[in-house]
Amino acid sequence: MKEISVSNKNVRVRFAPSPTGWLHLGSARTALINYLFAKNQNGTFVLRVEDTDLERGDLAFLQQQINDLKWLGLSWDEGPDPDTQKDQGSYKPYLQSQRLPLYQKCVHQLIKMDKAYYCFLTDQEIDQMKKKALEEKTPFRVNSPYRNGDLQQAQERIKKGESAVVRFKVPEVKKNYVIEDIVRGKVTFPSDMVGDFVLLRSSGLPVYNFSCAVDDYFMKISHVFRSEEHLANTLRQMMIFEAFNWPLPVYGHLSLILGEDRKKLSKRHGAVSCNEYKKQGYLPGALLNFLALMGWNPKTEEEIFSLSELINSFSLKGLNPAPGVFDKKKLNWINSQHLKQVTAESLWEMLTPYFKQKGLIFPNSSSWKEKAVLALRSSFSSLEEAVEVFSVLSKNHFEVHETAKDILKWPSTIEVLNEWKIFLKSYASQEVSPEAFTKACKEIQKKLGVKGKFLFMPIRAAVLGCPQGLELKLIISLIKRDVLLKRICSLQKK
Ligand code: GLU
Repeated sequence: MKEISVSNKNVRVRFAPSPTGWLHLGSARTALINYLFAKNQNGTFVLRVEDTDLERGDLAFLQQQINDLKWLGLSWDEGPDPDTQKDQGSYKPYLQSQRLPLYQKCVHQLIKMDKAYYCFLTDQEIDQMKKKALEEKTPFRVNSPYRNGDLQQAQERIKKGESAVVRFKVPEVKKNYVIEDIVRGKVTFPSDMVGDFVLLRSSGLPVYNFSCAVDDYFMKISHVFRSEEHLANTLRQMMIFEAFNWPLPVYGHLSLILGEDRKKLSKRHGAVSCNEYKKQGYLPGALLNFLALMGWNPKTEEEIFSLSELINSFSLKGLNPAPGVFDKKKLNWINSQHLKQVTAESLWEMLTPYFKQKGLIFPNSSSWKEKAVLALRSSFSSLEEAVEVFSVLSKNHFEVHETAKDILKWPSTIEVLNEWKIFLKSYASQEVSPEAFTKACKEIQKKLGVKGKFLFMPIRAAVLGCPQGLELKLIISLIKRDVLLKRICSLQKK
């Protein structure tokens, strides 16, 4: 592929969501790639809202998408303000629904240049054409009798109240449209892939391809990074650029994100919106790190990047045309690596709302909190998962798992737990140190002649409620002696 030189361009990129739902991981990745390129090149990152298709209710999704982008830390230089939604930047407005006069003006220009026309075909007539194409096994293209109609007559019909769309006149002479795509290399589109397509609906609202091309030009967008699903639209947009004699932006069509079954990532695969990952307690920096590595290769062994490291190491050459496969285990690993970089104090702060929601109660001492975080932080990969792990330390939370029930039936268990209770009762302090615990175990072993799993599993079951998991002596030192005693008593009652 050709080396891509950008130094002579004033880099302006845009993320152009249609706020019809939550911010999908794929869209977040598109936003990220645009952001990284802009920041790496000292360029401008624009947020443009493609909302001409929306019902009013969908505007709630706009605020949600804005919140998600904000949470991710992908701040834009131009576009609606994240808090007030008021436009910021010299190319405003940034909501397409507020740019309708511009689309009207451009469409009239095309009509005047004889590159677009009013078309009165009804939906039924178009359906008939589709049916015929299907019967004849030929690809469907609209063949409008209005293509070479008289403009004045058309305008009169509209004045009288008839409704018409405006269609683009696809050049009659077949030719190839070619782009040098940053991700995919040379892509050739034969012009007869499309028939005369709609620019403006009869309601006066533009269709996506038209408003997108117009805005990319008027907002001086230099590079368009978007999902490869839009490749088929690129031909139409190139035709519009050509009709106006506008210079074309550089395109880069990012590969899809697939589920592990190699089908397009969707709800079937689990959580797909940023918001769900936020709720589950993934760190924004970790999610960005993970998304960046899906479709972009840093060309180093390093896999953990902060956002500023991503900006510095970003290069277009690393963009990969192969689809990215969503690997949840990798996301968890990346998140746990990011969690490790957070101080114990901040981690506790992040965890607090999760603990509150679950009703967990912990000692209010900062040294205890720090000790607890340090002992447990490698046992979870998200904040939500941490709740489960920390719950064993909460004085109001003790459950005996199914897996521990067998252990409690072993004949030696009763004796071990009795000795463990005697030890705890006689222990002078509320904090059983790891050394004291080891010593006590040795004594119980000597007295009862019980060792190995017959010694530790019952204690583990009585402390954690489950036979496996965290390092027992660390956990014991984090639970008050009285709470430990209460746990055995509750077991013995059963
Ligand atoms: N509104 C389009 C989308 O959400 C944007 C496509 C583009 O970037 O051109 O997919």
